[in-house]
Amino acid sequence: MRAGIVALQGDVDLHEKALKRYKSDIEVVRVKTEEDLNGVDILIFPGGESPTMSRLMDRFNLREPLRKKITEDKVPTLATCAGIVLLSNLKEDDGRVKPFGILDVVLVRNGFGRQRESFESEVTVKFEDKEQVVTGVFIRAPRIEKVGDKAESIAFLGEEVVGVLQDNILALTFHPELSDDTEVIYEKLFSLIG
Ligand code: GLN
Repeated sequence: MRAGIVALQGDVDLHEKALKRYKSDIEVVRVKTEEDLNGVDILIFPGGESPTMSRLMDRFNLREPLRKKITEDKVPTLATCAGIVLLSNLKEDDGRVKPFGILDVVLVRNGFGRQRESFESEVTVKFEDKEQVVTGVFIRAPRIEKVGDKAESIAFLGEEVVGVLQDNILALTFHPELSDDTEVIYEKLFSLIG
């Protein structure tokens, strides 16, 4: 099994470690060019700074190849924090991020505000066959304002949705790679491989 981590900017190392923690024989490719996408069974969009990633995606000519991998080849994709920002729709266009708009979700960047910029909290993950509480690490996280019909809400911080599943995309506003009790999320991601 080969996983590609979009490696333009952001927390690539910790995603690699997390993948290997749950699947020790996984091959990890750091995706910087279109060729790096060849043969990947899984794609990871890490957290980081979405404006920077958005810009670098264009500079490295990765925008269309990534769109194709996700929407046409339907490669199972895990998007976290800035990653979910890039795949969703933004409530307000600040001119700095060009999101793909693939996910049927509307987001506000840095939506938890200054008081709660970064925090850790219990998150309930609910899949049809499994429900589990995991540690959610939120770092200047985006806030999900609206979940459309195409996306299913699968992670909750109290009543608030902090993760969705839409076809081959599992997208979270927190960082599952930063806690060691998030296996349920990786299990789901691996199960999406056709
Ligand atoms: N606030 C960042 C953004 O909108 C996301 C932060 C993160 O990925 N940890 O790009």
